[in-house]
Order: sequence, then C-alpha cells, then structure tokens
Amino acid sequence: MQLYNSLTRKLERFVPQAGNEVGLYTCGPTVYDYQHIGNYSAYVRWDTLVRVLREDGFAVNWVMNITDVGHLTSDADEGEDKLEKGATREGKTAWDVAEFYMADFLHGLRLLNVLEPSKIVRATDHIAEQIELVKKLEEKGYTYVINDGVYFDTTKSKNYGELAQLDLKNQQAGVRVALNPQKRNASDFALWKFTPKDKKRDMEWDSPWGKGFPGWHLECSAMSMKYIGETLDIHTGGIDHLPVHHVNEIAQSEGATGKQFSRFWLHNNHIMVDGKKISKSLGNGVLLHQLAKKGFDALDVRMLFLQSHYRTKANFTIGGLEAARQRRQSLQAFADLRFQTIDGGLIDKAAFIETKRIIFEELQEDLHTPEALAALSDLVGGAENGLIEPGAKEVFEHFINFLDRVLGLGLGDSGDITKEQKTLIAERDTARQRKDFARADEIRSQLLSQKIELRDTPLATVWSRII
Ligand SMILES: [Zn+2]
Repeated sequence: MQLYNSLTRKLERFVPQAGNEVGLYTCGPTVYDYQHIGNYSAYVRWDTLVRVLREDGFAVNWVMNITDVGHLTSDADEGEDKLEKGATREGKTAWDVAEFYMADFLHGLRLLNVLEPSKIVRATDHIAEQIELVKKLEEKGYTYVINDGVYFDTTKSKNYGELAQLDLKNQQAGVRVALNPQKRNASDFALWKFTPKDKKRDMEWDSPWGKGFPGWHLECSAMSMKYIGETLDIHTGGIDHLPVHHVNEIAQSEGATGKQFSRFWLHNNHIMVDGKKISKSLGNGVLLHQLAKKGFDALDVRMLFLQSHYRTKANFTIGGLEAARQRRQSLQAFADLRFQTIDGGLIDKAAFIETKRIIFEELQEDLHTPEALAALSDLVGGAENGLIEPGAKEVFEHFINFLDRVLGLGLGDSGDITKEQKTLIAERDTARQRKDFARADEIRSQLLSQKIELRDTPLATVWSRII
C-alpha cells in the first residue's frame, strides 16, 4: 500500500514496523459542541484507511482520543478552555457537556458506518499518564515554569517543526509574540496550565507544579504511546493540526523517548460548504441531524466524502449531496440484482473479478476513493440493461461483501424481497401480457409504497429497493 507521508512529503510504500500489526492513532474531536460534517469527514476518511489496511491483511490497532479538557480557544495556549466555555453557554458542568457531545459524536460515527475504533480514550481518564510525561520531560531539561503553567522549551528540541517545515525565525516575529511575555520563545507551548487564581474550573487536578489541567497537545502523546507504543506506525489528523498540534506532539514525545514518534503522518484536507471554509462566524457547519430533517441518510454524506480524495479540498452543497444520494441509489439497485440473476445476462464472473482488482488497486494507492467509485460506476452502468448471468451469482455476492468492507456503504445490508412481493411481480407480468394495464399499474404503486421500484427490461422485470 502506498500512502502520502506528510513527514517526507512523498508517496511511500507502507510497511508496519512489526509483522503485520499496525498501530494507528487518530486525533479525535473536542467534545464541547456538535460535530459538523467537516469534522466528520476526517473520521470517514480514516475509517476508510482502516478498512483498506484490514482488507490488505493487516491487523490494525486503531486508537482515537476524545479531547474533553485543555483545548483552549486559541492554539497558542491562551483563551478559554472550550469545555468550560461550553459549560457556561449551556448552564451545565464541563463534565456534563463532555458526556453529552461525546455520546452525540459516537452516534454520528455509527450513522456514518465508521467502524468502532479498537480504543476510544478520553483525556480526563489519563491525567496521571500526562503528568508522568511532563515529569519525564522535566528530568530531561525540556521544561520551564512561568506564572501560568509549565512550558516546553522548543529550542531544546532538535528538529522542532520539521513536520511543518516551520520557519521559526518568522514565527518569532510574527503572530504569536503578543502572548505571555514570560514565555522564552513564541513557539513554546504549555504542558500543564495552572488554574487562574480568579477562576473556578469544573475540571482541575493536583500536580507537582500546582493545581491545573493538561495542555491540549499532551494527551495525544501520552495516550497514543500508552496504547500503541513509543513509535506509532501511522498518525492521522486534520491538515489544520499539522503546524502546531502535531509539531508539538512530536517534540514532546521524541523529547521524552528519544525515539521517532510516528513513522507516517497522514492529513486530511477540509470540506468547504458552498465554496466557503466552515467557520463559527459564518455558522455554516452543517450538522447530520439537520440533513436528516431534509430527508438525507448519513450514508449519502459518506458517499459524498468518498467522491473526493482525502488530500483535496472538497466542497459540500445540497445539490452535491442529492447527486451522491442518486449515486448510492444506483449502487443499491445494482446490489439488489444479486437476487435476480437471469439466463442470458450479460455480466459474467470476469467483470466482477476485474472490477474488484481495479477498485482495490486504487484504494491501495493512497486511498483513491474517487477512482475506485468510477470503476464501480462503469460496472454498474453496464448492468443497467444487461443483468447478471446465474453463473456469476456467487462471485457477485463476494463482490458486494468486498465493497461493504472497503467502502462501508452497507449495500449488502438488505436481503431479498418477500415471497408476497415476488408473487405480486409475477402477477403484474401476467396482467401486462393480458394488456390489463390498470392492474399492472396498481401493483406497481402497491410495491412502490413498500419502497420497491420496478423496471421493465427486454429480459425481465427487475426490482430495486428505494433507499
Ligand atoms: Zn492530537
């Protein structure tokens, strides 16, 4: 499998460090509000990565975190904790806010058919591990304490910012200088923040340096190393995490262990909405339940994500989602043909075997999902009038199962239609032969009300499910 490694900025053949086991860590959400489709797109993309790795025979240990403390409104360790802010907004405790939005997030993942990660880990459940990591860094001389917390001295880290090719000289003179003047360097970041004297926090813990809470970057290092090991095979996250969050994860992890933190770094690009970046001020972060109200299934959203490559900026529009739904509908109609093979059908075994080969090859090439879907559409287009010949039935079943494993669109989830429905279709055929079109139309509407659509082809009447 080839993956684009942000660390080396090139496509590289992926081989795990030990046998066929892959330790994969994904930066999860900060659970202070609903996750919008832009947030969710990342998890669908990394879910696809896990699916393709497993199809390739790897055993994947997929660890994802939940940030429920310490993520401040400014990436530069300033501003309010997003969880505490959510608590004020909703008149609840930060703990309740975390609980509510975490449950909502996990529910969204299930709707999108994202596989359950091997482990979902919360920052607040790993405070001891995070304090240990700071102690280790302190012993090695990477830290210093100022009025508002314990900081990591980035000048002590060799290769700091290599992942992002940061221009530290410019950064020193740039945006981050106006912050805490006690910081030694603008790029230094907080490992542990003290509870401000004049503030009451819901979430705070004792530490060797004083009461407070962990800096946001710390949890990902502490938890990924705990559940995977000191060197990860793959670390994934959003492209916006690359210049600060991921650079800092590397600095503190490698500072503590002296080993490479992650061999591969993969980054997903943004989803735009109507051509604009999703932002709080525009309020254009579309939510899954808003789309459900408009009659869309979360799998339509999944299809929309798969139609673009994870490293490109994709654009979300309602029209685009409508088209994605149509496409999913045509795939479902295709999958339903596995119950209706017919003598004289044009699609034989070889077509399935060849299409499967192309799809898997595209997915192994840095997750080329648009190309994989294009190869599938070619096959589906050919089936429109061709139908499937009976000798291909078993291979067809395998093919649908393969698609469901790698694309997660649930095409094989629904079974055959009922005996009664089959009898109705036969009755309609007889009525048509008798030229009793009134009865034939009546049966068509009756089946339509059961979400079964009929299509008359020269060879037979074909049914498909309306999704
Ligand atoms: Zn992270």
